[in-house]
Amino acid sequence: MIRIALYIHVPFCIKKCLYCDFYSIRFDVSLLNQYTLALIKELELRLNRDYLVKSIYLGGGTPSILPLENLERIVDTIYMLTRLEENLEFTIEINPGTINKEKLKIYKDLGINRISIGIQSLIDDELQLLGRIHSSKEALEALDISIESGFDNINVDLIYGIPTQTLKSWKYTLESVLKRNLTHISIYSLMYEPGTPLYKSFIRREMDQMPEDLELEIFDVTQEVLDRHRFFWYEISNYAKDGYECRHNLTYWKGEEYLGFGPSAYSFMRNTRWSNTPNVKAYIELLNRSKNPKIWEEKLSPFEKAKELVILGLRLKEGVSLSEVHIKTGINIEEIFAENIKKLISQGLMCRKGDKIALTTKGRLLGNLVFGEFL
Ligand code: SF4
Repeated sequence: MIRIALYIHVPFCIKKCLYCDFYSIRFDVSLLNQYTLALIKELELRLNRDYLVKSIYLGGGTPSILPLENLERIVDTIYMLTRLEENLEFTIEINPGTINKEKLKIYKDLGINRISIGIQSLIDDELQLLGRIHSSKEALEALDISIESGFDNINVDLIYGIPTQTLKSWKYTLESVLKRNLTHISIYSLMYEPGTPLYKSFIRREMDQMPEDLELEIFDVTQEVLDRHRFFWYEISNYAKDGYECRHNLTYWKGEEYLGFGPSAYSFMRNTRWSNTPNVKAYIELLNRSKNPKIWEEKLSPFEKAKELVILGLRLKEGVSLSEVHIKTGINIEEIFAENIKKLISQGLMCRKGDKIALTTKGRLLGNLVFGEFL
């Protein structure tokens, strides 16, 4: 039996946000049923009862725009084809403006037990700058009706570093969501990804990045507020109440095995990573002919696997055990990267905890510098 995490990619959004470089296209009703049939076909081709599924994650895109009949067919197919762990974690990403009580009730009936809401900000001007479709009112409504519908494991995604954001507006957003009954918060800094409209505005000097000292102030305030509300950081961008760390995402950070389904989804199994075609139409066409939608694959050498375990593991508060990396890959990271580890510790970016290495607070702010040493 192979224990896996299972990811389903729903590649549709009502409108593309200005900063987004995930694979998604504008919602197209004519493709929806074809996509659902293709996804079911892919599940039938690749899933079987040799797998034991510990988590399911419906991500996107915007999974909450899927009509309920389509969602039910997808979930029923998964349940029929494979084995599920008793304490399965089953997450759906929802976006404000695409959700109502009826949908949430059906999600619950389907066995979904974790909701992840893309709130990003509770300031309307900031939401507009990001190109989000929702207002702050709709964001709070989505959160409140999720709680009222009986979900007791709820994540909220927030973004800091928005050009017009102030310390006061950030605190308002953070404190307002924390007044509700959440278990998890993901906090991302706004990235200017090449090719996105936001990046183009930045290049044209139509907007400025948030000044570094304000970002640092926001970081400090965030730690203080979250501590006060008993949320603990466990991964660079993720905070949870005790026992509510996202089991699905921990699979990625611990270098464990997962299967991804849908256009652009990645899988990782037996030290091999591969991805599906990112094109919805090509994906549908391939599966109509019962063909594998895989377009790319890489086999990790023991050395590559060891480096990856270190880089991913360093994202976690607990850090990464070098002896475990050695056992899993046969590679002695401590020996090969002795100079780099010494340097990072002397710069105050990394610390030793027994046989583990972990980021310091300064290292969390400069994570890319640390990861670069192991590339
Ligand atoms: S809703 Fe999410 S996936 Fe869709 S465009 Fe916006 S950020 Fe990207």
